[in-house]
Amino acid sequence: MRTETPSSPTPRFLLQPELPVCQTDLPLDWYQEEFKPYAEEYLALPNRRPETLFRWLDGYVKPAQAHFGDGLLLLAHFYMGGEIVKLVEHYGGAVADSYQLALQARNRPEKRVIVESAVHFMAEAIAILAHPEQSVWITNPKAGCTMEMLAKDYMVLPVADQLVERYGDTLATVAYMNTSGRLKALAGRTGGAVCTSSNAHQVVAWAQKCGRRVFFVPDEHLGRNTAHKLGLAPERVFALPDPRRGQIVLSALDLERLDRAELILWGSSCGVHTIFTPAMVRHWQARGYRVLIHPESPLETVLASDGAGSTNYLWSEFERAPRGAKLAIGTEGHFVRNAHQQGAARGIEVVHLAEIPGSTLGGCGCATMSRNDPPHLAGMLDLLRQGRAPEINRVLAGDVMNELTMGRERLPESERLELVREARVAMERMIAVVEGRA
Ligand code: SF4
Repeated sequence: MRTETPSSPTPRFLLQPELPVCQTDLPLDWYQEEFKPYAEEYLALPNRRPETLFRWLDGYVKPAQAHFGDGLLLLAHFYMGGEIVKLVEHYGGAVADSYQLALQARNRPEKRVIVESAVHFMAEAIAILAHPEQSVWITNPKAGCTMEMLAKDYMVLPVADQLVERYGDTLATVAYMNTSGRLKALAGRTGGAVCTSSNAHQVVAWAQKCGRRVFFVPDEHLGRNTAHKLGLAPERVFALPDPRRGQIVLSALDLERLDRAELILWGSSCGVHTIFTPAMVRHWQARGYRVLIHPESPLETVLASDGAGSTNYLWSEFERAPRGAKLAIGTEGHFVRNAHQQGAARGIEVVHLAEIPGSTLGGCGCATMSRNDPPHLAGMLDLLRQGRAPEINRVLAGDVMNELTMGRERLPESERLELVREARVAMERMIAVVEGRA
């Protein structure tokens, strides 16, 4: 696997003495019992300025770093609210998109304790590729991805069984990174692969070249954008009903349409990205802005924009933008706010695509990801150092988390190892496709 080092030598996120670094505080009863003392201390801080916050955080992060030495790795996703990205970067951790995060444990075997501030499927992807002696921890197990929460294994696998029964091994599952390990394993055992938003078109094209009909999970919009990119006619694409409407039962009419489809889409989506409309794009373009958008957004909005791509693409377009550039970015709110702050220092104007003056609709952040905040980071590191970390924060491949109840279903060891094998096959196939080896 290729090695990626997402953290830049120069800071990517702006820390200014007068700029508060944290999000809206979470209520105390949102914290696990073990984390409440840290939350109480945090809530009692006089302000959220970097100096105040780091003085407090240093008391927990530095002893943990001294204890674990080079074996500790802090990770955060670009979308993290509360500017956890700033904190993680400040303490030498890595900030990346979900694909690069997944490679972190695999590519850095010297890191034995990996602490992730993002959503559960991202931590699980890290765990799938981790070496046996590495442990992966999530600072808040309630941080789930709503797209993934509408594509749990117990929702998808019965439909996948029907499809396999009908199409046999001519069907391959392509699982977007935003899936549990159980769906990545489904992709592995049906001859499919994992994909990311930057390579979904390559992976689906590869599956088609292998003569496969593709079951694409879980994001309907990324699926539609991929189909368009590959020039698939609309009648060759079949979208399953929104899973929120209940159990999916395929009618005879559905089956006829399914038989004509080359791409079958699971009907989940991301609430953060589905709000973008072509009218928003036109609003900013008319004012001289270049519009960039994430492909989890609706197809018609992506088509109206000036550029679409993964989180990494959006960030690198922002980094490449010349002084005086005006960008309207359609993606997660904290990401855009970080770009806005960073851009102001470089003479680049960045706005959120949905934040049109006078409109009641605003761009939102990934609320579930933002359930990781400074007390979660401080508590996780301190409890790990003391050897008292709650087992529920440990992430193993195959875990299914109920983000509402904090209930967790963990596979027996032999099943977990089989899942890891199948899910790795799917991830390795993606890498082989991207590197031109498949
Ligand atoms: S932004 Fe959307 S797709 Fe990304 S983690 Fe949050 S809910 Fe999931």
